[in-house]
Amino acid sequence: MPIERTLAIIKPDAVAAGNTGKIISMIEENGFKILALRKQQLTRADAEGFYAVHKGKGFFAELVEFMTEAPVILMALEREDAIVKWRDVMGATNPEKAEAGTVRKLYGANIGRNASHGSDAPETAAFEISWFFRGSEL
Ligand code: ADP
Ligand code: MG
Repeated sequence: MPIERTLAIIKPDAVAAGNTGKIISMIEENGFKILALRKQQLTRADAEGFYAVHKGKGFFAELVEFMTEAPVILMALEREDAIVKWRDVMGATNPEKAEAGTVRKLYGANIGRNASHGSDAPETAAFEISWFFRGSEL
């Protein structure tokens, strides 16, 4: 398996609820190296550009509203097979369907407010990391 990078976000719901430290512990316990980390309040333009692939979907406006309501934690992570592994640690998009012990099962409220984000493929990971981090930060 190749060494990969993925973009992880602790979403506004989880940051506001005080779950940042517990989620970062899960990241480290699962063997990810945190290459870069920043707390940031996203602007509408930040969120719309980041989620451009979802533009036109019914939940897009709600998603942008949610992601800009309070600060998030942005992280670039690295490990073997990082993209799939971080999605495994997060669990399914809908917390109701997520496996026990996953980030979304533990800390997500519903399919929209689901505590965390992870890239879904090498191309999207490269785009998402470059959306938030400069090469010199990684
Ligand atoms: P994932 O984050 O697991 O990759 P998607 O890429 O499909 O999931 O969706 C991006 C984000 O949009 C989700 O994490 C969630 O916050 C939100 N979302 C997805 N589907 C819905 C929905 N049906 N209703 C409300 N919000 C949604
Ligand atoms: Mg996605």
